[in-house]
Amino acid sequence: GPVIGVLALQGDVREHLAALAGAGARTLPVRRPEELAAVEGLVIPGGESTAISKLAAAFGVLEPLRERVRDGMPAYGSCAGMIMLADKILEPRSGQETIGGIDMIVRRNAFGRQNESFEAAVEVAGVEGGPVEGVFIRAPWVESIGARARSLAEYGGRSVAVRQGNLLATAFHPELTGDHRIHALFAEMVRAAA
Ligand code: GLN
Repeated sequence: GPVIGVLALQGDVREHLAALAGAGARTLPVRRPEELAAVEGLVIPGGESTAISKLAAAFGVLEPLRERVRDGMPAYGSCAGMIMLADKILEPRSGQETIGGIDMIVRRNAFGRQNESFEAAVEVAGVEGGPVEGVFIRAPWVESIGARARSLAEYGGRSVAVRQGNLLATAFHPELTGDHRIHALFAEMVRAAA
């Protein structure tokens, strides 16, 4: 099958590599443009989106990432990764840039102010077999969603999972639960695109 990369600059890289392997995918950690060129899909992990943004620029991989996404490479972002795939962030830190690609505005740390971390069952469109356990850690929510993107899941009246073409994003962290259905969905998107 196709090789799926995990952007390995900061965040829970190992957990995504394990979840992808659990879903039957071949994987590669990606830090440099050469590694990005070797994958057919990419996961952007949870972590700290400001750090991921700055490291991506420092490693010279931010522009190549934007180009691959523009060219249709499937990408999946969880939490900080969701922020990286948003066309627009509310209240970004200064110098914080995204890869973009999904026609949505996300609010960073949106759930985090009242409640740093929580879990909730979330029904995700296109994922069979019942709700997934949503692990929310200083999670963003989707403040508004454009006409080209589709919400796949809501929690507390907010969209927390979005798909637009080959791009997928969740505000929560399926890589921390041992449930590989979201990674299997993404691996299927990569297979379909390859
Ligand atoms: N709050 C983090 C950010 O803004 C995201 C947290 C996470 O990925 N668990 O990047």
